[in-house]
Amino acid sequence: MKVLVINAGSSSCKYQLLEMDTETVLASGLAERIGQGGTGKLTHKIAPDTDHEEKIVRESAFPTHVEAMELVISLLTDAEKGVIKDKSEIYAIGHRVLHGGESITETVKVDENVKQIIRDCFPLGPLHNPANLMGIEVAEKLFPGVPNVAVFDTEFGMAMPQEAYMYGLPYEIYEEMHIRRYGFHGTSHRYVSQKMAELMGRNIEDTKIITCHIGNGSSITAIKGGKVIDTSMGLTPLGGFMMGTRSGSLDPSVITFIAEKENISAEEMLKILNKESGLLGVSGISSDDRDVCAAEEHGNHRAHLAHEMLYYQIAKTIGSYYVALGGCDAIVFTAGIGENQPQLRETVCDYISCLGVEMDKEFNKKAKCGVTGTLSTPNSKIRVELIATNEELVIARDTKEIVEAL
Ligand code: ADP
Repeated sequence: MKVLVINAGSSSCKYQLLEMDTETVLASGLAERIGQGGTGKLTHKIAPDTDHEEKIVRESAFPTHVEAMELVISLLTDAEKGVIKDKSEIYAIGHRVLHGGESITETVKVDENVKQIIRDCFPLGPLHNPANLMGIEVAEKLFPGVPNVAVFDTEFGMAMPQEAYMYGLPYEIYEEMHIRRYGFHGTSHRYVSQKMAELMGRNIEDTKIITCHIGNGSSITAIKGGKVIDTSMGLTPLGGFMMGTRSGSLDPSVITFIAEKENISAEEMLKILNKESGLLGVSGISSDDRDVCAAEEHGNHRAHLAHEMLYYQIAKTIGSYYVALGGCDAIVFTAGIGENQPQLRETVCDYISCLGVEMDKEFNKKAKCGVTGTLSTPNSKIRVELIATNEELVIARDTKEIVEAL
């Protein structure tokens, strides 16, 4: 059974075609510069991350997502290089959707009501939700009769208790505008926490796990018995600790202070907070951690400071979740930086050694570029693990489950 996973952005579209009988990726890719005028680019990989990986790059005009997806279909079904004979082999399509507001607590089959919920959440996810809905509508057009399933980034966080998701604002603001903490990266936190419970040989209902998804966007989640009890991101993915280009949470007065002093609009302020802050803003070098690491190695003070701030903020978040959970069985590092940056993990584990964490520093140094495993020593009171996240697999599994149950 083949499932197509689509993650549509405003000017890009990521996809993966999976054979679910073996859970293998047949092909994956990224279409870029959609609707930007000029030439778009499609990078298509056959058997990605295997010894037989083959990359095809095509340049073509993509006035809309439809033209990009038509090219994807033609590559997937190509007589010579295709991985399927006909698009009718695709059993179901799973879509990543950013925000489902308070109405969505689990993965759902797309119908008119679900599409309206995605639309209603445009103000909560202005950059992502319109693009995600467009991805669904393009799939409906190009794959008529094939069921579409929406997997929301916010759904895993909906189990949070009210004391964790409320902000200390007038209650009417919550009631009228649903302003609250939602949390994101739900598919990733769900995947790695379930995998962690499996690795411990424990029933997830009996576990307390802290998952650290550290990538370009980053969040940390406290998971008790398989359910989220707190998470660092908030109403939008801007909340929490500093990220590649996002500031993370601030004293709210900082925002009005800067806006008034510089006479800038809310939109301009959001651009600073979302696109010009974090590792990029502090280091002045780059939002890509590899560049920040290189600059730090060459003695750049601000690159060093950006890292020290990030490590401290991660450790502090873990510490607070240790209290929220009333102890902790395991801490998981995942995503681009979490899976590839030993110094970050070592410094964070030094901070939390007061909780009884003992790191196997030799193995930690080697754990990158696909090497995963246990980062803590057998004596450590909390197991620390490196698990590679796989959000597309979660979306494909959910999609298969929902469609099989129809
Ligand atoms: P996104 O939030 O866009 O999904 P990722 O999880 O892919 O982000 O993480 C991107 C970050 O991971 C970048 O800062 C990048 O520098 C870092 N990263 C990715 N691969 C490596 C690597 N092999 N070594 C060091 N850092 C890496």
